[in-house]
Amino acid sequence: MKIREISVPKYDAGLFPTELKEINLSSNENPYVCINVLKSIRKKLKDINRYPNPSYRDLKKALSTYLDIPEDNITLTNGASEAFYYLSEIIIEPFDKVTIPVPTYSLYFIPIILRDAYPSIKYTKLYKFKHDEVIEKDSKAIFLCSPNNPTGNVIEKKTFEKILEEFNGFIILDEAYVEFYGKSFLDYVTDYKNLIIVRSMSKFFSLAGLRIGYVIADRKIIDLIERIKCPFNINILAYYAAIEALKNLDFFKKVREVIIRERERLYRNLKQIKFLNPYKSHANFLLVESYYPRLDEKLVNRGILIRNVSNVVGLKGNFFRITVGKRSENNKLVRELKCLEEIY
Ligand code: PMP
Repeated sequence: MKIREISVPKYDAGLFPTELKEINLSSNENPYVCINVLKSIRKKLKDINRYPNPSYRDLKKALSTYLDIPEDNITLTNGASEAFYYLSEIIIEPFDKVTIPVPTYSLYFIPIILRDAYPSIKYTKLYKFKHDEVIEKDSKAIFLCSPNNPTGNVIEKKTFEKILEEFNGFIILDEAYVEFYGKSFLDYVTDYKNLIIVRSMSKFFSLAGLRIGYVIADRKIIDLIERIKCPFNINILAYYAAIEALKNLDFFKKVREVIIRERERLYRNLKQIKFLNPYKSHANFLLVESYYPRLDEKLVNRGILIRNVSNVVGLKGNFFRITVGKRSENNKLVRELKCLEEIY
């Protein structure tokens, strides 16, 4: 007996805090928890011996209202991450070519390789590209991300519209960070049956630990995902937390304002550090290029975790991704960077 020979890169989840309780600016999490969400799950703790209702109707309804998209065009996944596996499963066949402009979120590669298809990497300069640089006529699908991780920039509307017009394969658009930008390509789903949008409740809605994502697409695609997906893929606490989060939109909008304000302040502060070159971002993180090698290791010793993204395909040099934290956390980061600057 032999297991399959699969040559997939291991997904690098980065560093996580130890008991030392480092400040975690490594995973693009939202630092603010909504108290009403906490209260709602506390009430549901007694139900953990029960399976959730597999229709997940109330959450779908709430998302449908939030997105102004019919419920039939939405399905729920265990984090946006799970969506990429299901989508590969229903779209991609062995030997298919799948286009991935890089640098981008590295998880996309794994489900494609698992299907014995091959990723066609399109190297771009920090994810800035024109439509004709990424459209491949013989490609089955293209993975796009806007705002993009780890660069933080967005795909231009014109570029996206041209891709919609000219590419006949499936367009899988990852909008995990879209609420921090404010403009989505969601409205195109009705007219373009090949457009599939993947979203996450880990970032704007601050639910990373509970694992909620969703897919918005044509009904046929949604129906197929619903047939193949793991039963009860959203756990009962995550289900109720997500419903409550959607009832507290005003809280999250305020949080977004705080994060965006902090992002811009952090950008200005990082720009003043002489060994750093930060890039403008539309998400809740900043990409920085550092002339100080292994900046992540230097900062771990000072109680702060940031993500080393130097090995992300398509990035060349010492690149790091820094999540926008609370004001006090960002201040501590800047203080430590200034100390490093003195010994640079
Ligand atoms: N897409 C992008 C671009 C991400 O950065 C992440 C998480 N880092 C995900 C999807 C996955 O999010 P989730 O927590 O919903 O699985």
